[in-house]
Amino acid sequence: MKFGGTSVADADRIKRAARRIVQSKDQGNRVVAVLSARGKTTDQLVAMAVEVSERPDPREMDMLLSTGERISCALAAMVIKDLGHDAESLTGSQAGIVTDTSHTKARILDVRAERIRDALEKDRIVLVAGFQGVSTAYDVTTLGRGGSDTTAVALAAALHADVCEIYTDVAGVYSADPRIVPNARKLARVSFEEMLEMASSGAKVLQLRSVEYARNHGVRIHCRSSFDDGPGTFVLTEEETMERPLITAVTHSTDEARVTLTGLPDTPGVAGRVMTVLADANVNVDMIIQNEPAVEGERHRADMSFTVPRADARLAREALEPLVHELGIGGVATDSGMGKVSLVGAGMKSHPGVAAKAFSVLGQAEVNIEMISTSPIKISCVVKEEDVPRAVSELHAAFDLGADAVRREDVSGDHRPVVAPPGGGESLRREAS
Ligand code: ADP
Ligand code: ASP
Ligand code: MG
Repeated sequence: MKFGGTSVADADRIKRAARRIVQSKDQGNRVVAVLSARGKTTDQLVAMAVEVSERPDPREMDMLLSTGERISCALAAMVIKDLGHDAESLTGSQAGIVTDTSHTKARILDVRAERIRDALEKDRIVLVAGFQGVSTAYDVTTLGRGGSDTTAVALAAALHADVCEIYTDVAGVYSADPRIVPNARKLARVSFEEMLEMASSGAKVLQLRSVEYARNHGVRIHCRSSFDDGPGTFVLTEEETMERPLITAVTHSTDEARVTLTGLPDTPGVAGRVMTVLADANVNVDMIIQNEPAVEGERHRADMSFTVPRADARLAREALEPLVHELGIGGVATDSGMGKVSLVGAGMKSHPGVAAKAFSVLGQAEVNIEMISTSPIKISCVVKEEDVPRAVSELHAAFDLGADAVRREDVSGDHRPVVAPPGGGESLRREAS
């Protein structure tokens, strides 16, 4: 059971989470609970670091950031003991989460869960601080923002748990961020493939790595509200989801930066060099566009643009500076005010016309598309950050994704509509035309 920051934000919520954990134990389950830092704690810790240092040292940053989840675990363990159960709180390191040495975005390499197994054998409830581990160099590491989801999935895999329950502040995974689209529809099931695309394009309800890890290790994720007993959302294999709607969700992100390199020499190896420099700096590059080279005197010159997480824009710029000389690049420009909207749906694989409709909808909404990228089940557009909410709402409405839209289930691969059951209610879905 994993509880996110909002779900443990104050004393009452910690008590509520603890009661829920105890309830599951009382139902005969063995329970490992992963907790996030309370409320805005991680943001506050980041702010503290930036107050004292312009460029906080990554190792020390991890020492700092990892404290937030320890607080939650210790407090929850106190409550659980008061409720008459035996509990033991553990840091990521004590829980056996072994990572690589990339501070602030470490990857889990191994989970050595003997200590947890021992505690479970002793009939204890185990509380594990999420978002952290210990590196192969014995330093404290953190797993990137939202990383407690990945801690939970990794432990579920190592312990062969029946299910990994992710308790959060919304009732499950929705057809769009319910904070932006009030009539977004909660999905009963979503496939790993779609959830991966959703997480990678900004639906932060599950961290991308947690979904990758779950798919690779066959972990069953059940995402649900920590505030009520609703049915939530199951993340399943494509075969298990049994439905393939044309579009499942509209996702967005508002923390993108665009980097543009102008006047790149048009010779083999240049793009490889640019991306290698960024990879060495551990910067994740998302969309990449290179235009038709222009002839400048005798020489061919190209422009290349790509997006990176806004938090990495400066790192990217610094990594690229030396290349200006080395390759004879015209210039490096960064634009930090970018966002991204994406349409995700397994059904678009075999259905033409989605891009045409999406771009037309954005055009009618006066949203300028700056960059485009696609995968078989996703179309993403980079737009100005301030246009993101409007773009999301318009696309969500145009593709009839709302809770109020009547739909027809489509379980066949070739999108033949399935006859709706009489009085079909929830299972009636209208396909977007
Ligand atoms: P937690 O602290 O529990 O880990 P997060 O803030 O990381 O919670 O993730 C939950 C939030 O994700 C929700 O409050 C919601 O605003 C946001 N979100 C964005 N897209 C979606 C979506 N498609 N479905 C559900 N929630 C989403
Ligand atoms: N506390 C960390 C964060 O805010 C990890 C998490 O909540 O999953 O990113
Ligand atoms: Mg989260």
